[in-house]
Amino acid sequence: MKLEFRRRGILFVVSAPSGAGKSTLLNALRPGADFVYSVSCTTRAPRPGEIDGEDYHFLSAEDFVARLAAGDFLESAEVHGNFYGTLRSSVSEHLADGVDVLIDIDVQGASTIRREPSADIRTSIADIFIMPPSLDELRHRLLKRGTETPEQIEMRLKNAATEMEAWRDYRYTLISGSMEEDLQKFRAIMRAERYLSRRLILV
Ligand code: 5GP
Repeated sequence: MKLEFRRRGILFVVSAPSGAGKSTLLNALRPGADFVYSVSCTTRAPRPGEIDGEDYHFLSAEDFVARLAAGDFLESAEVHGNFYGTLRSSVSEHLADGVDVLIDIDVQGASTIRREPSADIRTSIADIFIMPPSLDELRHRLLKRGTETPEQIEMRLKNAATEMEAWRDYRYTLISGSMEEDLQKFRAIMRAERYLSRRLILV
């Protein structure tokens, strides 16, 4: 008889200060990905090139509040003056079907998900923190990106210093280097998580 494993999906929770290289990394991972990227809702205005339904579901504040009241969000938080939320519908069913899901959320959202009442969700978590190599480099990357005003950059840098204190709460932490290095490390983490004995069910 051939042995076979089945497992629930893994919820990859990725957090990083704004400009740490997370979006570049996630965009590099997405083509041909063997996981589903959960598209968050936000009240932030789209940046040039961002596509509604692909990068975010861009909502008005009214629509966001209505979805919050309807209990549609697994978690939600105010980050840098805007609201962000993870839709329950883009996570739960996939995990039950054995499909891995990646969510890109801030440290508050990650903390909420770790306290999620559903044990199925809690045990599916593999959380990863991406550190910028330094705050100077972070400033440099944010300036280079050029999508924020100087005031917004200052707010993001101030928040970054606070966010970085949370790295120990994550199972994995990697310091962002070149895109290739980050990609390799990230893939190694994903691969190892898929072989954790406690996730496997022998059928
Ligand atoms: P940005 O505006 O640069 O796309 O994202 C700003 C911050 O919001 C990032 O730290 C990102 O991880 C976080 N974020 C994006 N989507 C969500 C979400 O659904 N929930 C939470 N809590 N944070 C999110």
